[in-house]
Amino acid sequence: MSKPFDKAAALLKIKKEHLEILNTPQRIVQVNFPVKMDSGEIKIFSGYRVQHSNARGPYKGGIRFHESCDLNEVKDLAFWMTMKCAVANIPFGGGKGGVVVNPKKLSLAEKERLTRAYIRAIADVIGPQKDIPAPDVYTDGQVMSWVYDEYSKIVHQKTPAVVTGKPLKIGGSKGRDIATALGGVYVLEEIVKRLKKGSEKPTVAIQGFGNAGSNMANLLSRRGFKIIGVADSSVAIWNKEIGQGFDIKKLMEFKQKTGSLKNFPGSREVSQQDLIRKTPCDILIPAALGGLIGPEDALAVKAKIILELANGPLKEGADEILNNRKILVVPDILANSGGVTVSYFEWLQNLKNKYWEEEKVFKELEKTITDATKNVWKEASRFQIDLRTAAYVVALKRLEKAIEI
Ligand code: NAD
Repeated sequence: MSKPFDKAAALLKIKKEHLEILNTPQRIVQVNFPVKMDSGEIKIFSGYRVQHSNARGPYKGGIRFHESCDLNEVKDLAFWMTMKCAVANIPFGGGKGGVVVNPKKLSLAEKERLTRAYIRAIADVIGPQKDIPAPDVYTDGQVMSWVYDEYSKIVHQKTPAVVTGKPLKIGGSKGRDIATALGGVYVLEEIVKRLKKGSEKPTVAIQGFGNAGSNMANLLSRRGFKIIGVADSSVAIWNKEIGQGFDIKKLMEFKQKTGSLKNFPGSREVSQQDLIRKTPCDILIPAALGGLIGPEDALAVKAKIILELANGPLKEGADEILNNRKILVVPDILANSGGVTVSYFEWLQNLKNKYWEEEKVFKELEKTITDATKNVWKEASRFQIDLRTAAYVVALKRLEKAIEI
């Protein structure tokens, strides 16, 4: 699948037939479905659901709406979900869904009809004990509430546990909205503690200012980190006085109001490339789409740590360069596992119809993520390997046991 995965498998002497199982998704569903647009026109859309492995539990993974979404991307994302759930030690397998669409061009009503049509098309393969979707790029709590409602109508019973990331009022979990970012903070804190060095108020650049990126900026700035550069799909900005952190609360309000980071008072526009290559930060956090950071970027990056809040942010070749440059890359399958962890808590709450206080969610999240980080660190030290390979070691050990049954 990838060099670090193969290296981890070789270190653990994973059986060839087990590797073949893990290198092949169990099921690939491709659907084409009609949606009535507001104009009255009928358009056909394509979507996917890839179920990579259910060796450790029901398939689990988000749904993304994006015009560049394709089968290969969804397959990679489903594979990473299997690995991520195993790293965090939560009893789910891996899956992922996607619809090829530019959601920014849809009205709210069109988005709802598209979501419902997609769910009707994949309804046979999802379910609370089969495959549980969640939000991903350009899908949110509102989209998840349509998923829940449409599926419940199809099976003629209220089934909140079929999907996670729902709004609180219909069975969502407290804390799910910031779970991915908070999990990332817990990972980062654990790593920084182990490095036993670095500045008191580390500086940070974040690529992507959606659910994961903006919450991460907010949580980190509240903990004293200085967010000196951010980007969304329309613009990248530095604080005019580089070195001074942005006021993240104001930045979030501004983005909410204007829909973009462009022209935020006190900011200086830079190119997307410069944000990655030239921001003089301690920590770089990709939190946008995958494959946005290539080898040329890796050669130039100033940060000492890269925390992959996005899934698969590095293009081929970038990882090796960063490792050679001794830049510590905290891999996606560990760094962003907070989201799926609280999704698991939401699913548990739905099944029991008993809801947790936020305090309990955060406490359980911290424990799960800290344990996962410690485990990955331990394997990295034991085998003298990078954190991505170490995360695959942790995942493969657990998957191998489950496959052997
Ligand atoms: P989102 O749709 O809420 O936000 C995506 C952000 O990326 C937006 O601000 C968008 O403007 C920005 N963006 C898109 N293209 C860009 C580009 N070329 N350059 C700079 N910015 C760009 O999505 P999200 O839920 O925050 O997810 C972001 C990443 O985190 C994805 O890779 C996703 O798979 C991963 N992730 C999210 C969760 C979660 O719970 N939301 C969990 C695990 C992993």
